[in-house]
Amino acid sequence: MAVVKKDIRALSKEQLRNFFTDNGDKAFRGNQVYEWLWQKSAHSFDVMTNLSKETRQMLEANFVINHTLVDQMQRSSDGTIKNAVKLHDGLIVESVLIPTKTRTTACVSSQVGCSLDCKFCATARLKRMRNLNPDEIYDQVVAIDEQSKLYHGKPLSNIVFMGMGEPLMNYNNVIKSIEKITSPEGLGMSPRRITVSTSGVPKMIKKMADDEVKFNLAVSLHSAIDEVRTSIMPFNSTFPLKDLREALAYWYSKTKNRITYEYVVWKGINDTQEAVNALVKFCKFAPSKVNLIEYNPIDDGDFQQANDDAIQMYIQTLERNGITVTVRRSRGKDIDAACGQLANKS
Ligand code: SAH
Repeated sequence: MAVVKKDIRALSKEQLRNFFTDNGDKAFRGNQVYEWLWQKSAHSFDVMTNLSKETRQMLEANFVINHTLVDQMQRSSDGTIKNAVKLHDGLIVESVLIPTKTRTTACVSSQVGCSLDCKFCATARLKRMRNLNPDEIYDQVVAIDEQSKLYHGKPLSNIVFMGMGEPLMNYNNVIKSIEKITSPEGLGMSPRRITVSTSGVPKMIKKMADDEVKFNLAVSLHSAIDEVRTSIMPFNSTFPLKDLREALAYWYSKTKNRITYEYVVWKGINDTQEAVNALVKFCKFAPSKVNLIEYNPIDDGDFQQANDDAIQMYIQTLERNGITVTVRRSRGKDIDAACGQLANKS
């Protein structure tokens, strides 16, 4: 019977060290392999030239290296880059590099497709195929870091988990990928430069608080009225606003971190004074920032960006109530790389 070889990248450094001692070799070989895998992004055992031929053959006999590959790269006229990343099993996820004057941000995927059914999001149409492994998330970041250096002359400065998928429904792997991104043996990035965006899974938000994570949290709110939110984000019927708010209050009590809400204003859906008032009321329990995101149209015409008057009404009402507001313009629209447009079109 053929042996199913294990993905070597699923092993921790300790496990790699143990593998070598179990096989009568020195533990530090584990460190050498770890370095090849994670600092030098080795795609084969052959390149691990500080190991003997026998050792490399032994690794080859026991393991595979399930690396990812940037299969296609598209560049927008505004400098945004979208990668189609091919996984070892042939599935594809997308990730995006967003450059601005002061920073370059990687927007990464956490799942292939998505199990949520947000009516305005292109990824929702793909359904969820599977969770990404920690290294498949990490690889997206490394690829974008390299592109950032190549095309923008500086390393990546920020990471947002706003690509395909719901990060809190793949919590363990997302956390492991962030451990690698922040570790000195990985990219050594500060967790303060990382934001995990969620549609709002109350139980997992509480878990994040208990785990005392150091990265930022963003919540895709879009409406603070249950009936409206359920109509555009159907899972809100399972996780209603009351539960979300309670989990966020818990998060704030533990972390004292300001909460960011992502919010799109749509014509005829949430462009009323009543909707803004509900938002103000929802935000009151903790220092908050509302990020008004421009709507990126997806194929069907059910949703339309609200007009400027409605946006102004939001800005003024929120500011009057002491809530910070930012307005985020879309990037990479010409290559379908903007928020909610990731759908493996090509
Ligand atoms: N599942 C996570 C992360 C992926 S979506 C979440 O829901 O937060 C990243 C952000 O893009 C979310 O705020 C989401 O609501 C928003 N978004 C989705 N489709 C969009 C669209 N068509 N236009 C603008 N923003 C969109």
